[in-house]
Amino acid sequence: MAEPQPFMGLVTFGRRPHTRDVTGADVAVVGVPFDGGTSHRSGTRFGPRKIREMSLLLWGYNNPLGVAPFDALNVIDYGDVESVPVNIERTYANVEREVSAILDAGVTVLALGGDHSITLPLLRAHARRFGALAIVHFDSHPDTWDSEYSGQPYSHGTPFRRAIEEGLVDTGAYVQVGIRGPTSGLDDLEEARHLGARVITIDEAMAGGLPAVLQEIHARAAGKKVYVSLDIDAVDPAFAPGTGTPEVGGFTSYDMLQLVRGLRGLDLVGFDIVEVSPPYDHGDITAILASNLAFEFLSLRALKKGER
Ligand code: MN
Ligand code: MN
Repeated sequence: MAEPQPFMGLVTFGRRPHTRDVTGADVAVVGVPFDGGTSHRSGTRFGPRKIREMSLLLWGYNNPLGVAPFDALNVIDYGDVESVPVNIERTYANVEREVSAILDAGVTVLALGGDHSITLPLLRAHARRFGALAIVHFDSHPDTWDSEYSGQPYSHGTPFRRAIEEGLVDTGAYVQVGIRGPTSGLDDLEEARHLGARVITIDEAMAGGLPAVLQEIHARAAGKKVYVSLDIDAVDPAFAPGTGTPEVGGFTSYDMLQLVRGLRGLDLVGFDIVEVSPPYDHGDITAILASNLAFEFLSLRALKKGER
């Protein structure tokens, strides 16, 4: 039978097989449809499904990186972790347990969110297997607030603060990229720096250029186990409007692709793409971008396999 067209057939990520049996897989694509940690407009619970749908447009060969990740890797679509819409702690427990089991089988996880609160249990699972992690964190927000929402320790504004407190992060190799927008005061970004993050604001990135950003990331993260967390609001809302807390003046889609491709050569052990909120999207452009960024992650993982 001929290769199906993008508009045909059932939906899994990249039309990979859906299975909970991760034996022999290189990468499991894992949906985490949870938006209970959202502070403003919600809807990221619909992110994984929409990103999967848009992933059917991925034809398979990555020309700039010269690799066909679905051929080079055994990629499966694990489906979604059981999300409990009204209970963040129970959702966290489910994410940590299920993702830990996948990692223990030697399989790389590419997680599709969900709001950014889900990165905390993902980091717990990855740090359990790999130790404290170098982190490349693309975002317009530092997400290192303490508990600004009525004293709640867990939300999409706090995952990296909690992760640092829990010892999951190698703070000498924690780089935030794309930070911008008004904050409640001077302290917000200063606190991130005090916690150890290297904060690369959008202004620094634009003034120095993307190669300088990548040089800084490689200088800090080379030789370490690196987790990549990509909040789609790092990208300008003109390119990625389907998100909960948009900040103007961000990266273009093209910039973001270049930044991700530039992570080539790092020892990448885990990936997430979060904060895609389809109800606020227009023409699915945010979900299309997210599916392409997921494809770039898979391409990097395929190159790493080839270089072993
Ligand atoms: Mn975030
Ligand atoms: Mn953000």
